Amino acid sequence: MFKTTIAGSLPKPEWLAEPQKLWPQWKASGAELAAAKRDATLLWLKEQEDAGIDIVSDGEQSRQHFVHGFLEYVEGIDFENKVKMGIRNNRYDAMVPRVVGPLKLKGRVHKIEAGIARAHTKKKLKITMPGPMTIIDTIADEFYGDRVKMAMAFAVLLNQEAKALEKDGVDIIQFDEPAFNVYMSEVNVWGIKALERAAKGLKCKTAVHICYGYGIKANTDWKETLGDEWRQYEQIFPALAKSSIDQVSLECIHSKVPIELMALLKGKDVMVGVIDVASDKVETPAEVAATIGRALKYVPKNRLFPCTNCGMAPMNRDIAIAKLKALAAGAAIASKRYK
Ligand code: ZN
Repeated sequence: MFKTTIAGSLPKPEWLAEPQKLWPQWKASGAELAAAKRDATLLWLKEQEDAGIDIVSDGEQSRQHFVHGFLEYVEGIDFENKVKMGIRNNRYDAMVPRVVGPLKLKGRVHKIEAGIARAHTKKKLKITMPGPMTIIDTIADEFYGDRVKMAMAFAVLLNQEAKALEKDGVDIIQFDEPAFNVYMSEVNVWGIKALERAAKGLKCKTAVHICYGYGIKANTDWKETLGDEWRQYEQIFPALAKSSIDQVSLECIHSKVPIELMALLKGKDVMVGVIDVASDKVETPAEVAATIGRALKYVPKNRLFPCTNCGMAPMNRDIAIAKLKALAAGAAIASKRYK
């Protein structure tokens, strides 16, 4: 009961990339970088297993950023001449690449890290990719001239890689869609359709992660403006509940999301955020178990998967490890308490 998992990313060791940065510079290049990525992937598989996490991930050690890590493998994008763009409805500025021609995959995107992870763990393995709406919100369009058309073009490419990952033996493919919490009406019009296109034909489990972002200042400032109750999920969960996606990862602990909104995901597996990634204070196992207990009022126990609120990429490594341990220990307490 209560199989634990993580949203996706984990901190990069300081010998792989600059620590505690969202867009870190790699510390090596060429073959040396490839070896460092492999070693970091193995290291985090071991740390997750030792902490007691049930569904493990590659920790996104092979990508510089959760969106651009995918885009680097797409033809039709100019990475040389990035432009400044306000993203997530102008919450913050980012230097983003530009779409300048028809989109096509250059080849496999996550084959190497998925292969390494699959060869070295018997646990269920999750690989994450950015969702179509979040991708088009993190890149400048100088070719399609239409957000939906461009999102659908990316969805086709995501689907191509997802099918290959499934063949590689990946158990869960998760699409990260923080943009779903920003453009709620568009989610209902085309966002979920694009997500379903990305997941089309997959027989493995499919998931979507929707959060209020990493614990960076632009996000914590934004959260201050959202009022006493964060009700964004209320506008998108009913449509998600009717979608073909199997699992939904959401933010819970220390958030202002009314917990009863989870009831809107009837029929879905719910990855409940019981670890705060915006705070360095490590949760106690008792706190984790209590959060699981609160969520149980709205999610059946066979569908509840304790998880982190978001990725841990910009965190301190030792704190991230302590939080993984608290996650597993708290789930173990809850398993006894609520069986
Ligand atoms: Zn997130």
